[in-house]
Amino acid sequence: MLLALPLNSNADNQKIRATKSGQRGLCPACMQEVYSRCGKYRIKHWAHFPNCNCVVQWKPETPWHRQWKSEFPDEWQEVVHHDEKTGEKHVADVKLPTNLVLEFQHSSISEGELQSRNNFYKNLFWVVDARSSFENFLKEMSLPDNFVKAKIKMKAVPLVPIRDCCIISNPEKVFPKRWLNCTVPVIFDLSGKEDSCDDNVETLDKIKTLNPKISDFYTSILFIRQTLWLLLPRANQQDPVMALAIHRNDFVETLRSKGQLFAPFAILSLSEKKVLPPIRRKFHF
Ligand SMILES: [Zn+2]
Repeated sequence: MLLALPLNSNADNQKIRATKSGQRGLCPACMQEVYSRCGKYRIKHWAHFPNCNCVVQWKPETPWHRQWKSEFPDEWQEVVHHDEKTGEKHVADVKLPTNLVLEFQHSSISEGELQSRNNFYKNLFWVVDARSSFENFLKEMSLPDNFVKAKIKMKAVPLVPIRDCCIISNPEKVFPKRWLNCTVPVIFDLSGKEDSCDDNVETLDKIKTLNPKISDFYTSILFIRQTLWLLLPRANQQDPVMALAIHRNDFVETLRSKGQLFAPFAILSLSEKKVLPPIRRKFHF
């Protein structure tokens, strides 16, 4: 837990960070006392005392997780939701004032848990740590007929600059399979924000040689490092997987300033029925 409530406060008080050992606070979900943990190696956080019966399962966070959350104001982070149907409580990683929820997922997640959170939040975007897929991503880029540039016709107006759009022919080789049939948008982060940009130039030349169709744009390592890939939910599993390339800074800035990536009531699913060669396909979402 990154943020706790001050002692003797209520759920509306401003939350506080753990800055040094020995602090006390309240868990915003169960209102039980928590203590700060500020060791040398672990990320500073709040923890429950042993044998507490918190209603929320707080999981340890990785630097990747923490870095993503910190892109947004404290008051948007770790927002507690009460499920009136089940009585359960959930904590959204980030909830924007527009009610859009962002969940950052580093580890694998079960199909059931994924669906349950999609159903609970509804207005939800997943941001997935796909750094382990980076090499596969480069490999698949070098294959002709993969990463085919697509023209799309959108019903929704993108508020975020879309740098490119393409159809990925073998998406299961690029992204963790679990996410390909997600019913809400999934954003893959293939590279940590701080990751180095001086990757082997040879790899990029090789991609170009093997796949002359690929644009120079894609084979800039900086582009690959800075780009998030947003996969739109598909109406049918047979529909092609289409990914929108978005600069990570644009993603954060648009959400911070506009509270959404698409305006105003985007229906984010593909609905094209006629099968055409991918390059001539037009999509509506
Ligand atoms: Zn608690």
